[in-house]
Amino acid sequence: MFITAAKIHDGHKWLPEGTVIELAGDGTIVAIHAEKTDEHPVHYDGVLAPGFVNVHCHLELSHMKGVIPEHTGLIPFLQNVMMHRNGFSDEQKSAARHDAFNAMLENGIVAVGDITNTTDTMDLRAEDKMHFHSFVETIGFNETPQKQFEYAVQVHDSFAQQTAEHRLWQSIVPHAPYSVSKALFEMIDRHRKDEPISIHNQEAKAEDEYYISKTGGVQTLLHSLGINDDFFKPSGKSSLQTYLEWMSPSHPFIFVHNTYTPRTDVAMAQETLPQVYWCLCPNANLYIENTLPDIEMLMEENGVICIGTDSLSSNHQLCILSEMASIHEHHPGIDWETLLAWGTYNGACALQMQGIVGSIEVGKNPGIVQLHGLYQHGTKPTVTRIV
Ligand SMILES: [Zn+2]
Repeated sequence: MFITAAKIHDGHKWLPEGTVIELAGDGTIVAIHAEKTDEHPVHYDGVLAPGFVNVHCHLELSHMKGVIPEHTGLIPFLQNVMMHRNGFSDEQKSAARHDAFNAMLENGIVAVGDITNTTDTMDLRAEDKMHFHSFVETIGFNETPQKQFEYAVQVHDSFAQQTAEHRLWQSIVPHAPYSVSKALFEMIDRHRKDEPISIHNQEAKAEDEYYISKTGGVQTLLHSLGINDDFFKPSGKSSLQTYLEWMSPSHPFIFVHNTYTPRTDVAMAQETLPQVYWCLCPNANLYIENTLPDIEMLMEENGVICIGTDSLSSNHQLCILSEMASIHEHHPGIDWETLLAWGTYNGACALQMQGIVGSIEVGKNPGIVQLHGLYQHGTKPTVTRIV
């Protein structure tokens, strides 16, 4: 099959006009022709790009769509999630997960970094329609988190037994700096020192306040949950600067949200860690805190930026194109060439899947999406999966 379009993005950049992509029947890229071939390619309108990579999602929370009010700030948001997450039947939850998964496929997403607290998503992984890295999330803010960790190992090992044509990977990760103690960080670190770590990072101002001086909204949250935090000694430094001392630098790190990450922390992480990815979830930030991270600063510090949707508890849809459109709306100076690289190749690198998806390169099978409306002001761009 031969295809072409007025504009083709290969996951890194725009390809020269007239480029023709040759694909095998299963979607594998066979060749990229710089000039017109003798074959008559199918010409698509709009833009063609590799399939999208959603670096941060929680399919497990799909039943909470529309349940949590917007713009409450993170602490009330988390209290709402905990209050409402179990008030649904297993059938309702399963139906919502399947609907959300199918919507992601329709939105051109080919690989996902999915946060999971249970084995509820095993059936979606088994459908063999998307590449998965399941991040098995641990929560435990106490000095003896053995039970929480052992449960995560069980979930991890159940996932590890699954096989499919698509990649099914998994690793054990911390939820957030305010919900994981030093003891639990160290257990996660020891599990496998080269496993990718994904962590909700500096999503609220209160997080650094707690690490620096042990005051503010995080302390209120912990106390409202009946958690005794007497063991916690403030470090006088930000959360990121503190917990990185508890983890080996050999992990690839995906820092998610970074809504309140200062430049000094970005520079420190970039300098001390061989593999760092900064995952933006702009629609969730706008939903919860009604603000965005300092994206220009991340770019100035040469951060590798990728994109996630977070869950339907804090988003109206699971669509990487909608996340890119929100960034573009708030930062018109960030062009589509850059945004498309964040949503494809950079995301694939963050999930260690750049060998199979994320870019239009010979031998890969990245899926191909057709995009409309990127350059029409005031319209919402649309995506169709064509391969
Ligand atoms: Zn999240």
